[in-house]
Amino acid sequence: MAFSRRLEANTVQKMIAIYCHEIHGTKGNNLCADCTKLLHYAENRIDKCFYGDDKPVCSKCQVHCYKPEMRHLIKEIMRYSGPKMMFRSPLLSIRYMYRKMFKSDIDNTCKSKKNS
Ligand SMILES: [Zn+2]
Repeated sequence: MAFSRRLEANTVQKMIAIYCHEIHGTKGNNLCADCTKLLHYAENRIDKCFYGDDKPVCSKCQVHCYKPEMRHLIKEIMRYSGPKMMFRSPLLSIRYMYRKMFKSDIDNTCKSKKNS
């Protein structure tokens, strides 16, 4: 899996874990059955994303490949866990937010750096 997709899968996994631990009372590496299902679903969607390695983060994506009930769930989880990610994994979430807002700018910067 390309780095950007692995990062997104990692972010989703962390967000689901925070939500499941606090709302569903699970601990450590355990997730409840529903959250495990959602995580596998999300990983699968990221893996099979229409955009391949050029994929934008899912919140910006125009394709909306999530099934409505899964999209509803993941939105709920992101709303709950998103702000908490800032404290638990600041680097990961800042990178994620940054990519979300300025992805094309970052890509251009990377390209020009490589060329110089
Ligand atoms: Zn759960």
